[in-house]
Amino acid sequence: MKKSNKQRRAEIKARRLERAAASVAHLREKDVRLPPPDFGFALGCEPADRSVLEQYNNTFGVLPAFYVARPFICRDCGAEELWTAKQQKWWYEVVHGHIDSRAVRCLACRRARCERLRNAPPGANLLREQTDRLRALGDAKPTASAIADVEAALESKWWSLRVVAIQTMARWGGEANLAKLHELMAARPEGGRRYFAWERVAADAARRALMNTERWP
Ligand SMILES: [Zn+2]
Repeated sequence: MKKSNKQRRAEIKARRLERAAASVAHLREKDVRLPPPDFGFALGCEPADRSVLEQYNNTFGVLPAFYVARPFICRDCGAEELWTAKQQKWWYEVVHGHIDSRAVRCLACRRARCERLRNAPPGANLLREQTDRLRALGDAKPTASAIADVEAALESKWWSLRVVAIQTMARWGGEANLAKLHELMAARPEGGRRYFAWERVAADAARRALMNTERWP
């Protein structure tokens, strides 16, 4: 039966992994930086350009003279992968990756990760979820748990969440909430140095929120 391309690719990959494992085992025994005499380019060996590495020398250790293909297990999907000598050369000498850094993810997982990071910085999804939930609380009359949520949000490490809590309080209205918002406005610090203080941000958020609720009651 004729082998499919997929099968053939898998076989080639298995052979390369085997060879790389053998070469890594060999390197473990001897000086990692010196290529063994029988070390052909078939094994995935690339000379290192130390003049380039030295320009970006970010290690106290000895710079490599050669790169050899390294097998590794993808951190995300567990696939057996090979970090080729060429890829290593590119990583260290063109991108100037840290000399101690290693490939940890397969190409597919690397791309998926980049995609995720592009679409959402760390914590952004969680923040958006919390923000939406908190904002929705303003649509209904405040319950005890909703009030507790808003109070907790006012202490959040994310100022944007605190601002939404202030907006929700303004939409709820009521004596206690309005008093609290006026308190925040009164606590606005003066002077340029305090411009980045939370108190200034809170006071402005409270003022805007009150203006908005007055305009659209
Ligand atoms: Zn993977």
